[in-house]
Amino acid sequence: MINLYPKGYKFQLSPNFNLVDFHCHCDSLACRVTMVAQELVNGLEALRAIAGPFDINSGYRCIPYNQKINGRPNSYHTVGMAADCAPRFLKPQELKQFAVQVPTLNQGGIGLYKWGIHVDVRPIMSRWTDPNLHDLTIVAPNNETDV
Ligand SMILES: [Zn+2]
Repeated sequence: MINLYPKGYKFQLSPNFNLVDFHCHCDSLACRVTMVAQELVNGLEALRAIAGPFDINSGYRCIPYNQKINGRPNSYHTVGMAADCAPRFLKPQELKQFAVQVPTLNQGGIGLYKWGIHVDVRPIMSRWTDPNLHDLTIVAPNNETDV
């Protein structure tokens, strides 16, 4: 079930997540509602219980804002079914390993990025890894000829 809330309002959706975590980050006056799938909140709460705290960098996005930030067209963010989760104490890969243990999230989409993980409650399991993920982890070899 996808719920509609007025943008800007504070409302506790679950013990650890508030509606403010899900509002679109745009400043358009036309962006007036926030869509949040309760199933997503339930999955995030289950993830929080086993993985500890993480921040939701992006929840709902109106379509213009999703386009502005070059989000994937028809992103699950635009229907309130996705959240970008940035771990506070874990590595993204570690947070992902917890996410796959949550049935609600494991059944949907999980993407691994440098900043954390995208999770969504789409009806089909999907997995992907940001191709840029490993760029930052490559350690430049010492070039001993470089004097
Ligand atoms: Zn918006």
